Amino acid sequence: MLKIVLATSNPHKVDEINSVSIPFGIEFVLPDKGFDPIEDGSTFEENSYAKALAAAQCEKSGRNYFMADDSGLCTDFLNGAPGLKSARYAPSAQERIEKLLCALKDAKENERGAKFVCSLVLIDKTGNILNKTLGVCKGKIAHNQCGKGGFGYDPIFIVENKNKTMAELSQDEKGKVSHRGRALMDMLMWIKCSDLK
Ligand code: IMP
Repeated sequence: MLKIVLATSNPHKVDEINSVSIPFGIEFVLPDKGFDPIEDGSTFEENSYAKALAAAQCEKSGRNYFMADDSGLCTDFLNGAPGLKSARYAPSAQERIEKLLCALKDAKENERGAKFVCSLVLIDKTGNILNKTLGVCKGKIAHNQCGKGGFGYDPIFIVENKNKTMAELSQDEKGKVSHRGRALMDMLMWIKCSDLK
């Protein structure tokens, strides 16, 4: 099994990604202690690279590859917000959901379009970029929360062509349609065809 450090402190993300990657012979693991990235980039990709580099810089266990994802929710009505600030839009996940529903309270049905975006960057221990991918999942913002799965904004994001929020999908279903799932599949295909060991 090829082990790759996933530059996150969120074990949900590791679980979600591993549910897809393990059949490919690739296991993602949390970074060593001291992982504390500064996310001040102006794009998802810049932030993703900064996180991957922060994980490489605190590595003490001898692992060679570091992958980061930076993701967020962009809404049409708010000109792309919360976007890069999705994680810091309000103090807790529940408050972020409530703030977004409130910001869209006057948005009509055709103005509630939104997309989740995910940038993945894979680097080696010296910081060289080996590959990067971008995944997008289109949908719209619901009027109310629905579903208990997933995390973050999932309960208010209705997935395009599915009459369900992201939080109503099983982990498998989410993996197939989500921004992270799409970016991840492209990355896993690349890794499989590469000679990373
Ligand atoms: P980050 O990529 O860890 O910086 O996360 C950015 C923010 O977007 C977090 O607040 C997450 O809650 C939100 N987010 C990212 N991916 C998802 C997802 O798959 N579902 C719901 N929210 C997400």
